[in-house]
Amino acid sequence: DVNRVESEMQLIVDGKRLDGRAFDELRPIKIKVGVLKRADGSCYLEMGRNKVVAAVYGPREVHPRHLQDPVQAVVRYRYNMAPFSVEERKRPGPDRRSVEISKVSREAIEAVVMKELFPRSGIDVFVEVLQADAGSRTACLNAASVALVDAGVPMRGMISSVAVAKVDDVLVLDPMKEEDNYGQADIPFAFFIRNDKIESIALLQMDGRVSTDEFKQALEMAKKGAMEIYKMQKEAIKAKYVVEQEEEVDES
Ligand code: UDP
Repeated sequence: DVNRVESEMQLIVDGKRLDGRAFDELRPIKIKVGVLKRADGSCYLEMGRNKVVAAVYGPREVHPRHLQDPVQAVVRYRYNMAPFSVEERKRPGPDRRSVEISKVSREAIEAVVMKELFPRSGIDVFVEVLQADAGSRTACLNAASVALVDAGVPMRGMISSVAVAKVDDVLVLDPMKEEDNYGQADIPFAFFIRNDKIESIALLQMDGRVSTDEFKQALEMAKKGAMEIYKMQKEAIKAKYVVEQEEEVDES
């Protein structure tokens, strides 16, 4: 977080976090699949106070055509914050931060999308942050991954993403705004999960400072959190498609 400040703010009080969570506890997550009619796939996701929407278009023809790749699909990813999503109005349009987040998120998504099946075509992922409260890039990746499944884009696995922070000398999972702003370090992770197992790290960023031992602990904490998120992503997808199938059976 660019707004990180050194401060005396106490973030762990009586062994508890400010919102009462355990150190290794995620914020509440809500996932809804297929919320946008015009997109090929979409997802609305809440992760604590983050509220994001992902829309996927494609595979479809790429314009301008010189951007086409003759051997595989081109994946584009746009992370965008609504002006009203943060405390101090965000100036509309891309800035350095959103360009960076879009780039690393696209690279994470590219690890799972089977691009080789769609030469000359494009897969566009748009993520809009409606409300931000730290970890918005991780919320967006979780939503994007579900929206890609909703769009029927063939994938090798899923992306599940969560950050770990160091606050008051302890590691905490899925930091919220205060922990991100006033903490000692923030480490967003995204994992490539295949066959219900974490296969690799698809995104890893860090600001602040941790020891190598702390980093190893942070990785383990993030992996556990990501597996919990992965289960919820799967449940949300099932909730849409299994119910729809049952409805089809009822009608016939
Ligand atoms: N933030 C903000 N204004 C901005 C960018 C970020 O208020 O222009 C807040 C927002 O709540 C965001 C948090 O700072 O979620 C942390 O931002 P960071 O750059 O660490 O990205 P994130 O944690 O959201 O992925």
